[in-house]
Amino acid sequence: MVADNSSAVPVAPGQFRSNLALDLEESDSGAADELSETSTDPLSDPDPEISYVVQKGDTLSTIFDLLHLSQTTLYKLMEADLNVLALDTIQPGHQLGFNLDTEGDLKQFIFRSGLTYKVVFDRREKGDFEFREFIEKGGYRREIFAGEVQGDLPRSMQRIGVRIAEAYQVTSLLKERMNFRSHLRAGDRFQLAVSRQYVNGEYTGNSVIEGFVYDGAIRKQSAFLFDDNYFDADGESLEKAFQRIPLTKRYRISSSFNPKRKHPVTGLIRPHNGTDFSVRIGTPVLAAGDGVVSRVIKHRYAGLYIEIQHNRKYKTRYLHLSKAYVRKGQKVSRGQKIAASGNSGRSTGAHLHYELHVNGRPVNAMTAPIPVVQTIARKKRSAFKQQVAELKSQMAEQLALAQKQ
Ligand SMILES: [Zn+2]
Repeated sequence: MVADNSSAVPVAPGQFRSNLALDLEESDSGAADELSETSTDPLSDPDPEISYVVQKGDTLSTIFDLLHLSQTTLYKLMEADLNVLALDTIQPGHQLGFNLDTEGDLKQFIFRSGLTYKVVFDRREKGDFEFREFIEKGGYRREIFAGEVQGDLPRSMQRIGVRIAEAYQVTSLLKERMNFRSHLRAGDRFQLAVSRQYVNGEYTGNSVIEGFVYDGAIRKQSAFLFDDNYFDADGESLEKAFQRIPLTKRYRISSSFNPKRKHPVTGLIRPHNGTDFSVRIGTPVLAAGDGVVSRVIKHRYAGLYIEIQHNRKYKTRYLHLSKAYVRKGQKVSRGQKIAASGNSGRSTGAHLHYELHVNGRPVNAMTAPIPVVQTIARKKRSAFKQQVAELKSQMAEQLALAQKQ
């Protein structure tokens, strides 16, 4: 058995690198990446007058009561939040900040989740709120592990310092190619390259699998991240494709994705973070890709909506539904009927509002690059080969180190 065999190699920042290994600029400055162009650096914001850490059993409504803030104000916040749906995620431990005006009314509300995510809601005219969303980029560090199978694969990986969530990312990546019961033999060797995100030296919980090599007695398999998709060493895609439209056919688009949309009356920025399809109530809504249902929620403005988490970086949302056929935690596959469309929440007519998020940011689902590639384009093959070779040589060094011990 091998022990303590990880080594750290600094690598590039995570959020939008298209190629982890080739982009070697270190960005551990903790600088936040900002979505709205009108706002200032969130790190220079002063501490809020009132800070509140969400407790078990809290709802936004009970917290607002506690602070003598009106439910009307809460509804105004939720109206702005319709465009991010950040507040539906509040959990014990999340930090809320409140800044009040001289009348004791809320003028700014701050929501912080973990080390990497923050949304600031600022009050504008007529009590309406506008939001600014921030995602900390942090810095990524590559770590290499080499080990061998004793028992099942996740536990064999855990034993040498791989986090359990990382081990499950690996098994879910290879689930189409490997049977983790019948293909495993004690003593099979494996190597893993993973990039872990740190903000101010603290691990954020985000890890990106960059490469995995399994060298077994009866099975050899590998996975490498390249251009945001996973491929085996021969350049064959490991990931299942998404479907562009979560419906059985292409319906008319009544409103397109528009992050800069202004409200026609108030002039406030009210981004349209999705694509609206004009469909009759009851039209089947399909999962855009394989994944796990992460939310089934009834929201005052979004109506009944479903969120699906697809592997590590893609998330989709389906709003204003009339019926949900899935529950939270359920696994779904691409093309599976998950809901019936509707007109729930605040909606000007029957339609499906569909969102695609990449690394926590909404993107135009109709044009964004999504995993549809089956093999690597010829002109990119040499870059891919070079990247695989680099990771493999780091893995080989680690393997040699592990074997010496
Ligand atoms: Zn919409």
